Amino acid sequence: MLEKFQKIRGFQDIYGENAKKYRYIVETFRKTFLDYNFQEIILPYVEDISLFKRSVGEATDIVQKEMYIFTDKGGREVALRPEGTAGCVRAYIEEKMYAEGGYHKLFYEGAMFRYERPQAGRYRQFHQIGAEIFGVSSYLADVELISMVYKILKYLKIDFRLEINTLGDFQSRKEYISKLIEYLKKYENSLCQDCRRRIHENPLRVLDCKVESCKEITKDAPKITESLSKEAIERFEKIKESLKAIGVDFIENPRLVRGLDYYTHTVFEFISQEIGSQGTIAAGGRYDNLAEQLGGPPTPALGFAAGIERLILLVKDLPPEKPLIVIIPLNQNYYIQALKLSEKTREKHIQTELLLKEGSLKSMLKTANKFNAKYVIFVSDKLELKDMTSGDQEIFINEEDLIDVLLSKL
Ligand code: ATP
Ligand code: MG
Repeated sequence: MLEKFQKIRGFQDIYGENAKKYRYIVETFRKTFLDYNFQEIILPYVEDISLFKRSVGEATDIVQKEMYIFTDKGGREVALRPEGTAGCVRAYIEEKMYAEGGYHKLFYEGAMFRYERPQAGRYRQFHQIGAEIFGVSSYLADVELISMVYKILKYLKIDFRLEINTLGDFQSRKEYISKLIEYLKKYENSLCQDCRRRIHENPLRVLDCKVESCKEITKDAPKITESLSKEAIERFEKIKESLKAIGVDFIENPRLVRGLDYYTHTVFEFISQEIGSQGTIAAGGRYDNLAEQLGGPPTPALGFAAGIERLILLVKDLPPEKPLIVIIPLNQNYYIQALKLSEKTREKHIQTELLLKEGSLKSMLKTANKFNAKYVIFVSDKLELKDMTSGDQEIFINEEDLIDVLLSKL
């Protein structure tokens, strides 16, 4: 017996209902992005490793342990992208979009790769859809982005809570980090292995640790709100006020920090209760220093990304599909006639299955039922239209008449 192949651990086949949900989710995001005048960018899946080291951060879990990296045949050290923002900023700088003036609103969609421990809602290849705004420092952009995601999740009829926080400007963040380190050091021996490393490399990330004992320790840790500058507080207040004014419900979570290094000021997460501990379905924030860190001009910016697999778990109802008609040639003598008819119905954008498998009338009808046919057309010396719900039948001689009747029914 030949060996049977299996998909690689952490990778998934998305098919059937889930593939329909995937497309429905992406379409819903895309339509709303366009309503908000975001423009699409289609980015490479492979980038220089150092792009992620410099943006996501050397000390982050993503860069330390999760990247798919390899040397290509030209000796380049490359990585499969673990997220979309770094590539987006790289493109913004490399394509000199900033030189066009004004500001830029971009969106992207596609696969991301992280070598994580696979579990429900966490895979090694997963898909994100996200958007970024480059060149705006006004808090109005934060409000627009957050409320847009809020609205999309409502369109998808998903239950969620929105948590927001601010990390303050660079100075506030720096001061807070030293207070946090001081606190964490007192409990160093009780923290998990990863967090002991994080104290020195990426202390904010300890607040984001999912281990129970670490959560217990960080409960009483100093809060970022106590280290914020007056400007940072005012900025955050305006965002909250505006969100309230347009009916966006949120919870303030002073412990919310996000796992990536590049965030400043606003951070936010949309969280579902329904899918267990992998509950974050969309997340993002401001990253005002990132473009400069990547060799571009100083560019205030912000963005978010949603995890499509987690949304698939949450979307319950798909919009109604187009009704299907199935064309059944009674035998091979009628194949050409049936082919011609199917060409015509498809040109009219009637969703048509031309039955490709020969069999008894009974088995062909069974197949049509399996496809969920609304109407069946039997092709022989005449054309017989059968309504699969009522069982009613009508006979036609002329194809055009049949199509006219069909169009009026569908
Ligand atoms: P988490 O805390 O769940 O690991 P994260 O902070 O690593 O998430 P981001 O890098 O901000 O997540 O990615 C944004 C979204 O992408 C997440 O909220 C989640 O919905 C999705 N996501 C991230 N990693 C995975 C994964 N391995 N599998 C499936 N979806 C993922
Ligand atoms: Mg993660």
